[in-house]
Amino acid sequence: MTVPLPVRAAAPAKLNLYLHVLGRRPDGYHLLDSLVVFAGLCDVVEVAPAETFRLCIDGPFAAPLRAEDPERNLVTRACRRLAEAVGRAPDVAVTLHKRLPVAGGIGGGSSDAAAALRALAALWGLDPDDPRPAAVAPGLGADVPVCLHGRSAYFGGIGDVIDPAPALPPVWLVLVNPGIGLGTKEVFGARRDGFSTAGRLERAPADLSDFVTMLEERGNDLMAPAIALAPVVAEVLDALRGTAGCRLARMSGSGATCFGLFGSETDARAAAAGLRAARPGWWAEAAPLLPQVPAVEIAG
Ligand code: ATP
Repeated sequence: MTVPLPVRAAAPAKLNLYLHVLGRRPDGYHLLDSLVVFAGLCDVVEVAPAETFRLCIDGPFAAPLRAEDPERNLVTRACRRLAEAVGRAPDVAVTLHKRLPVAGGIGGGSSDAAAALRALAALWGLDPDDPRPAAVAPGLGADVPVCLHGRSAYFGGIGDVIDPAPALPPVWLVLVNPGIGLGTKEVFGARRDGFSTAGRLERAPADLSDFVTMLEERGNDLMAPAIALAPVVAEVLDALRGTAGCRLARMSGSGATCFGLFGSETDARAAAAGLRAARPGWWAEAAPLLPQVPAVEIAG
């Protein structure tokens, strides 16, 4: 069968509803416990056959990535690794529409890599059960397997333990980035506290209020070090807490992007618009929590 082109895959923002650092292995990797979800705000990865590999990047956050060597881009690395694994040339033209802030703690690069694997698997006609995309994912980065999993999940170990999360209550999210990138290594390096002993959030109640209470008993252990490096993160959290309808405000991953949880779309959209108006240098967007990453689209 000929696949109509291009093949397009969404790369949604990944959020850590809570994130605990449980320990550090002798090799330096941190052991984590996190509840990972996806928001309906996405980069888009498009792939089409070409004579040789090429990567074009456009979109509002393309500039920092265009300044880097394209061979270092996680999309390029994902394409080359999967091509090698399936024994063919990476003969594809890839366009990355970069709509998510870079180095923002919302796993943009990892989500892009997972989207590239999904798009190529469709373009190259791999069986949905073909194990090779999942086999190359961990080598691309600790967050790539959970992004390929593509549904709310508990993330444990060094990213190698992924367990499906129970169904979560419907919720709207407001994501806010104050226009800065934070390096994951620097934030881990700025940690001063010991390790968390809090247990995993084992069940998720259907009621949003109960869910928020459970999340309040947990936190993001990287928030204090991120604020020490970038005090503006505390301003973002205060601004989110001050919006009508915000039930919980927290930083995602290693920051600097923070999120607010809302029970209604109207409140979430109003909060994002209000924050954009008050702080023109900030990126603020509202989106629903996605139970599942959208399926790959094959354009006609
Ligand atoms: P994580 O939470 O997974 O550590 P992050 O959200 O903080 O990641 P990313 O947006 O994934 O950060 O970017 C981290 C770094 O990865 C960037 O500074 C950039 O140099 C590199 N990178 C490579 N490919 C990409 C990509 N496709 N999108 C974003 N960053 C990329």
